[in-house]
Amino acid sequence: MISSKLIADKIEAVIKKMFVELGTSEIGVSEYSLLYDPKKHSSWFIVIFFSDKNQLKVGLRSGICHVIHSYLSNGLNEIEEISNINRLISFESGKCPKEKQSADNLFVKSLARMHGLQKEEQNAGSLFNKLLAGTGWLRKIFGESNVKTCGMCGHDFKKHEMLFDGKSGKLDRATEGWTICPEENCNCFQTWSISPEVGGNLLKNIKYGSPGEVVKCAEEAAKD
Ligand SMILES: [Zn+2]
Ligand SMILES: [Zn+2]
Repeated sequence: MISSKLIADKIEAVIKKMFVELGTSEIGVSEYSLLYDPKKHSSWFIVIFFSDKNQLKVGLRSGICHVIHSYLSNGLNEIEEISNINRLISFESGKCPKEKQSADNLFVKSLARMHGLQKEEQNAGSLFNKLLAGTGWLRKIFGESNVKTCGMCGHDFKKHEMLFDGKSGKLDRATEGWTICPEENCNCFQTWSISPEVGGNLLKNIKYGSPGEVVKCAEEAAKD
């Protein structure tokens, strides 16, 4: 079996490569924490730090976090020995904790998020089902789901925004993107994706922005 030390080395190599290849230090993203405590949970928690709150806010909404998340997910999935470990990638502002107490606090926060998501998954099945609960236009098609609060942050899930990057795919199709929470100082971030066939049919009524523009799928569609 692969040792924890080796897993950590492999994850860290992907994170460091991401900083270099995406050039994130230019936007103040150059620190991370990798947290793991097998006595408490089997998951590995990867926390990426933006230097300040405002940059984090911009990163969440603009799609920078989504690019980072995709890079890390793809990079980790490519490494066979660690492709199936449980992991949670999240974003914070400030500096990565150097002291044990603050690192422990970050672990507790990450663990709570993971527990929230797992509980939610039992109820909803998947993030996509949860999105169905959160977006009125899809809810009409699939019926009510029972997700009321976001497992990641605990806020009202229906208020979360479902976003995607108009330049990443064909403009008449959105098959992946991310969700953020509009609550003040909440750095909730999750990704969503659906198959092109389903996406093409479900999302064709969305009004699309110009390339690169982030569009609020749920809100725009709900107006129709
Ligand atoms: Zn949330
Ligand atoms: Zn929230």
